[in-house]
Amino acid sequence: MTDSRREGCKGCSADVHVSRRQIDRMLAALADKEFDVVSDTKYADRLASCRRCPSLQYGSTCMHCGCIVEIRAKLGDKGCPHPAGSRWTGADAAAGAEIAIASKQTI
Ligand code: SF4
Repeated sequence: MTDSRREGCKGCSADVHVSRRQIDRMLAALADKEFDVVSDTKYADRLASCRRCPSLQYGSTCMHCGCIVEIRAKLGDKGCPHPAGSRWTGADAAAGAEIAIASKQTI
């Protein structure tokens, strides 16, 4: 494919542009179902990390997984897929540090 819009992105094209309305509809659908979602504080921390991340494309999409970050960040079983390690900080970083300490103590 020679579409220059795909450069630097795993598989994005113009159709990855999503409107505020579409994102709000997806978030509402999550709320209607019984998904494991994170706290508002953790959600805000994750989104703040995404907004600072150079891998965020179109202001909405992670170039590593193709996910809409406002959806991915909401889900408790999802992590940041950055190949160099998670860029999510705040509550996620604190949880990661606790896991690392716990695993060292069991060795
Ligand atoms: S790599 Fe992580 S921090 Fe960056 S946009 Fe993707 S999910 Fe967000």
